[in-house]
Amino acid sequence: MSRPVNVAVLGATGSIGRSTLDVIGRHPDRFRVFALSANTQSEELFELCVTLRPRIAALADVHGASALKLRLAAADVPTEVLAGEGGLVSAAAHPEVDVVMAAIVGAAGLPPTLAAARAGKKILLANKEALVMAGPILMGAVRERGAQLLPIDSEHNAIFQCLPPHAAQGLEACGVRRILLTGSGGPFRTRALADLAAVSPDEACAHPTWNMGRKISVDSATMMNKALEIIEAHWLFGAPPSRIEVVVHPQSVVHSMVEYADGSVIAQLGHPDMRTPIAQALAYPERIEAGVPSLDLCRLGALTFEAPDFKRFRALALAYDVLAAGGTAPAIFNAANEVAVAAFLQGELPFVRITDVIEAGLARVPVSAAATIEDVLEADRRARAAAGATVARPVARLV
Ligand code: NAD
Ligand code: MG
Repeated sequence: MSRPVNVAVLGATGSIGRSTLDVIGRHPDRFRVFALSANTQSEELFELCVTLRPRIAALADVHGASALKLRLAAADVPTEVLAGEGGLVSAAAHPEVDVVMAAIVGAAGLPPTLAAARAGKKILLANKEALVMAGPILMGAVRERGAQLLPIDSEHNAIFQCLPPHAAQGLEACGVRRILLTGSGGPFRTRALADLAAVSPDEACAHPTWNMGRKISVDSATMMNKALEIIEAHWLFGAPPSRIEVVVHPQSVVHSMVEYADGSVIAQLGHPDMRTPIAQALAYPERIEAGVPSLDLCRLGALTFEAPDFKRFRALALAYDVLAAGGTAPAIFNAANEVAVAAFLQGELPFVRITDVIEAGLARVPVSAAATIEDVLEADRRARAAAGATVARPVARLV
């Protein structure tokens, strides 16, 4: 290897961003932090720039970016500061960047992730919302521009590891019968339904097995996360929805499975630690140390599996409806959820109303063709407006 691989870590201050920097820090000979990005966390980004000395730091918040620039100059750190969505896009598509870790949460990650695909980068995709919103457009850009898309989401990374190298030619051709997407069931899997009305944001974010950002933690509690992952698996692997099944597995040790025509089921196991999929994708096809200890199966004792409760977790069934509807339906689904989750985290919406807001968004915004990224962004805007209006409405008149 002539020089270390230049990595742009988008969403560097988040849970996945920090885990990525941890893995990179274990291999300074192989990887170099070339660019970092954050939303408004200029203080955290400043500290990261002082320690890691990236070439570029991009902050979505334009005012914060000006302040960051002054502070870095005063501290004699030679990092160039970029601002706003344009800054994130430039960092992702920079000619010297080899690998982009797409770890921004939500729809805000779509423009830089798409820019990375159009620039032919190797993309490590954690930002599932971007793929849910614009699956065919993003996958098309990856194909046409010779980019590479490796899944970071633990389930999809597991599926990727369980598939043969020629899987891109089609799952049918490699004898795949089913994709078994595992999910922990979140913190409320067994909680009495009557008790869910009063759950607080902190309770919803206290995931039993994973330590993650707040938005995805709430998504796990509603199982909207698994719903988004059904759509993510559909686009990533070209899997027909009828071949994607959700299996609840509370221990989060089996990260997903692939079943073949001969009855073989191949699973990928590991600690619930995102450094494993991050290291797998960073070094692919090689294997590197990720700081994750060995799995002690004897100590774990039992691994259990159960069918998902489609009545309790209505988002799961909605994912299949949304895939059947096609076009802008997944973008509407995602945007309404983002609005509902933000309202819940701000104490403006009860937990049990999150799925109602998503359903109302799907009912109110007409689905159209998603031929261009503008179509997708327009559907996102309309769904946000519809969901915002639903959040503001009295409970009895939600839908
Ligand atoms: P997080 O909230 O911990 O971090 C989000 C990052 O995105 C932060 O750096 C933040 O500054 C940045 N960001 C947020 N809004 C932004 C905006 N408008 N513009 C620019 N930057 C913005 O989230 P996370 O848990 O690290 O999740 C990141 C992504 O990875 C999500 O799409 C999530 O679904 C996915 N993911 C996370 C995990 C996990 O274990 N945390 C696992 C699988 C997939
Ligand atoms: Mg996941």
